[in-house]
Amino acid sequence: MSDIEYLRSQLGVHPDFPKKGIVFLDIFPLLRDPVAFETLITHFLHHLTSVTLPKLRADSGNPKAKIDAFIGLDARGFLFGPVLASRLGAAFVAVRKVGKLPGKCFKAEYEKEYGTDVFEMQEDALPEGANVVVIDDLIATGGSAFAAHQLVEQAKAKVIQNLFVVDIEFLKGADKLPAPSYSIIKAD
Ligand code: 5GP
Repeated sequence: MSDIEYLRSQLGVHPDFPKKGIVFLDIFPLLRDPVAFETLITHFLHHLTSVTLPKLRADSGNPKAKIDAFIGLDARGFLFGPVLASRLGAAFVAVRKVGKLPGKCFKAEYEKEYGTDVFEMQEDALPEGANVVVIDDLIATGGSAFAAHQLVEQAKAKVIQNLFVVDIEFLKGADKLPAPSYSIIKAD
């Protein structure tokens, strides 16, 4: 079994959660297994250092360009973002559901599989021109990651990469996003 097949086999599959007709994929079993968690982090780091950074440096003409911040989406993006940020010497910034963050916040509305919601990010969280990676556990329609892009744009920073543990590929969420997406497990 390949390491990706192993990770896929560890995903929890829950039909009719949180409501009838939805099959919920649970990533928490992957965090119970330290080898599975480290494998996820290694795959993300490998992609960032072998694809994202070389492309950023070639596109910008700056051989020293770096990832300045990881933007984690409420709530499971918070599980992976800080680890990657710490390993690469970048900032971690939380994007939260409306009303959870103190201070002045940018806002972006989005549609989810289960209704509409508003995301916020603190206005002083990102410097202008920062190179940003968006991270979440799973992409379905792409609505929440797209809202994160809008928040980063309001801060005059730039999303250079999206990272997801799981992509529900048939929903084609990644096609909606202006920056490239990398996901470790493809689900249908
Ligand atoms: P999207 O905005 O791409 O339609 O939905 C993705 C968001 O909803 C992510 O924040 C993700 O955590 C959550 N989500 C939707 N469906 C699932 C699922 O089956 N499993 C998990 N773990 N998260 C989901």
